[in-house]
Amino acid sequence: MIYNTYELKKDAFLNETRTAIGRIDDETEAIVEIDDLWDQRFMELLWQYRFKDLSKETFLDALKKQTDSLNSTYNQLYEEELKKTDLSFDIKFKKNLHSVIVFDTISNDTVFPFANHDRILKFGEDFEESEGYNVSQARWQSDYTRQEDGIEKTFEFMVRTKDRMNISQWKRIVLGRMAALLAGSILLLVFVVGLFYYSIKNLIKQKKVADVKTDFINNITHELKTPLATLSIASKSLKKKEILDSPKAFESTLGILDRQNDRLQKLIDQVMTNSLGSEDLVLHKEQVLDHIYLTNLIDDFALSVQSKDLNIARAIETAEVMLRIDTFMFTTALFNILENAIKYGKEKVTLTISTRLKNNHYEIVIGDNGIGIAQKDIHTVFDKFYRVASGNVHNVKGLGLGLYYTKQVIDAHQGAIEIESELGQGSKFIITIPVN
Ligand code: ATP
Ligand code: MG
Repeated sequence: MIYNTYELKKDAFLNETRTAIGRIDDETEAIVEIDDLWDQRFMELLWQYRFKDLSKETFLDALKKQTDSLNSTYNQLYEEELKKTDLSFDIKFKKNLHSVIVFDTISNDTVFPFANHDRILKFGEDFEESEGYNVSQARWQSDYTRQEDGIEKTFEFMVRTKDRMNISQWKRIVLGRMAALLAGSILLLVFVVGLFYYSIKNLIKQKKVADVKTDFINNITHELKTPLATLSIASKSLKKKEILDSPKAFESTLGILDRQNDRLQKLIDQVMTNSLGSEDLVLHKEQVLDHIYLTNLIDDFALSVQSKDLNIARAIETAEVMLRIDTFMFTTALFNILENAIKYGKEKVTLTISTRLKNNHYEIVIGDNGIGIAQKDIHTVFDKFYRVASGNVHNVKGLGLGLYYTKQVIDAHQGAIEIESELGQGSKFIITIPVN
């Protein structure tokens, strides 16, 4: 497209210049006069060549001499006229004679042959024939009569002429004229590519969000189904006569109802609280001593784990540090990490929990020996509802809310959380919160 435009612009440019130059040559009176004078002398010389035994060399020599004598005037006139036009660039212009044929009754005599490189400069500034463009070319046939000793002598001749121009900077000029178009095209291209990129990115993002939502729905329905099924069986069995008759069976069925009810309630609470963003969290901070707080927390956690073989190595900062935290939320946040270590751990879980004081920051590092998190997932695991696809979604239950909540709580404490992990090697959660 751009190349075509370039060709079109080039043609338009050359045509414009051609017309303007042609006009100078045809319509400037002084130039036409000098041109006629040259022609007049030329025909005179040709007549002598035809009838007076003037040799070819002398003829051509004389022609050259007359060009030499008239050309400076011609060039001056041309320059003056060129300045009057709006052609503000350097244009060389020349008029050439390409062939001269004198007709005879017996044979035609070509004074000057038809060949591209052979030419006589009539007017203008000479340049290589291969450079430049045609302005016009003509072939004219005429006769010339002169009296000699009272006798009229006539001969016929034909001349082929070519007017050519040479514009040294035409490429720059044409490109200059195209600059706006080029810039526009490039801008448009950049814009389209940008738009395309943006759309694709958005599409991928939306697809991810949709996938995550579907996963969440699947997970939550799965979680809800079990207690609901149990509830429905229990309530049906309550209507049975044998249960109604046995107070013990009745009691135990009621217990099932209660527990399932609790489970549902907890599930809904989990979704409600864990979905809160850091700006929605209202912190009730209190002062706690790091040693006491963390030891209690770890003990409570160790006690709650029964499913797996758990071993916890602790290295709590020796200096006593006062922490200002919302203990309820902070405990849930840490529990979420600890629970994950069990959920995504091997049969034997080894946890290392170490803390230290590091220039006004309290750092808690929780390391596990679990399945690890791939580099690409390290930042997304903090997203709401995000669960690692290969993370055994079907084997390990979860809503993808735990780490989201943890991050929100730590953010609300002006802290930070980072993960270092390698697949198959285990993960390290590094939490820092400011202390004053
Ligand atoms: P829940 O809302 O019940 O906590 P969840 O455990 O799936 O569900 P997150 O705690 O937010 O959700 O964890 C997100 C995902 O990060 C998990 O699904 C798991 O794939 C991955 N993950 C989290 N902790 C670990 C860990 N210690 N080792 C390996 N993968 C982990
Ligand atoms: Mg979790």
